[in-house]
Amino acid sequence: MKPQVEPLPPPAAAGPEPDCHAALERAIAAHDRPPLGEILARRGLGPYRGYSAMLREIRELAASGARLEALGRSVQGEPLLALCFGARRPDPSMRTSVILSGLHPMEWIGIETHFELLRRLLALDLRERAVLAVPVANPDGVLRVDRNLRAGRWRFVRHNARGVDLNRNFDVRWGRRNHWTRLVPWVVRPGPYPASEPEVGAVASALSRRRVDRALSLHSFGGAVLYPSAYSLLPVADAAEHRRWARHVAVRAAARAYRALPCAWYGLGLAQGGLELDWLHERHGALSLLVECSRGGFGPSPQRLLDPFAWFNPPRPAETAARIAAAVLPFVAGSEC
Ligand SMILES: [Zn+2]
Repeated sequence: MKPQVEPLPPPAAAGPEPDCHAALERAIAAHDRPPLGEILARRGLGPYRGYSAMLREIRELAASGARLEALGRSVQGEPLLALCFGARRPDPSMRTSVILSGLHPMEWIGIETHFELLRRLLALDLRERAVLAVPVANPDGVLRVDRNLRAGRWRFVRHNARGVDLNRNFDVRWGRRNHWTRLVPWVVRPGPYPASEPEVGAVASALSRRRVDRALSLHSFGGAVLYPSAYSLLPVADAAEHRRWARHVAVRAAARAYRALPCAWYGLGLAQGGLELDWLHERHGALSLLVECSRGGFGPSPQRLLDPFAWFNPPRPAETAARIAAAVLPFVAGSEC
């Protein structure tokens, strides 16, 4: 089935934003809403912050020493914001760690974990390393989830504003089909061509100017630490180093260790194309990990069973975020394992 897509936004909206602080302030003003955490906590969903509070946290981190960059704009014109750590003026040869979260917009525990990790990074001397972090990689999707939560609507949201699964849109083995893409084509839509979506294009363009050697993407759920590849059951050349790091994180991420395995094995051997995990590994040569934060937020109450938000997000986000942030910090900081 061919995904229905709309034309790209006008060219003026693409590319790095010269005044990223002004763009952030405009977005905060445009989406200013009462705190979402209290509403969700009353429903047993956990005190997650909404989109405007995520933007405020980005502002807070920028005020505390991180450098703000706007990488571009989403389909609906939201700024795609990055926080940079390390040297003030990184030269292109400097080793860079990349952190992504929110590609799948319901997986808010990944965003919470990301913010916790960045707080810890602020206190660290990164020496000869830069870190580029994109906490909300799919702002239009996150906004849609925010609106659904405020309205009390139980909706599953996985795509960007044009119905594309951003984590199938990267330019690596793009469009590879499997049983899932045939059975539920409306869930896993890769877009009309590789990197067709402005959110993916903005990340790819920002990283093209950097030497990326570590990459971490935060998702949910499943309680697993995944490494390349997603498209083949065969081991990648540097599988041993990936396995070492994945196990290191997996045993520290939770009281009962997470699983550590190649992504294709996690996906029941179904080849998946267009994932950030493989793109970062193949195109940049980075050691790449994808953490499925938490084992999910299922519970006995009808609310937790019926509301898709609860499937992905545990009711006590601070505990999960602190544990995983501590587990992945040495990986992101460039330590040896
Ligand atoms: Zn995901």
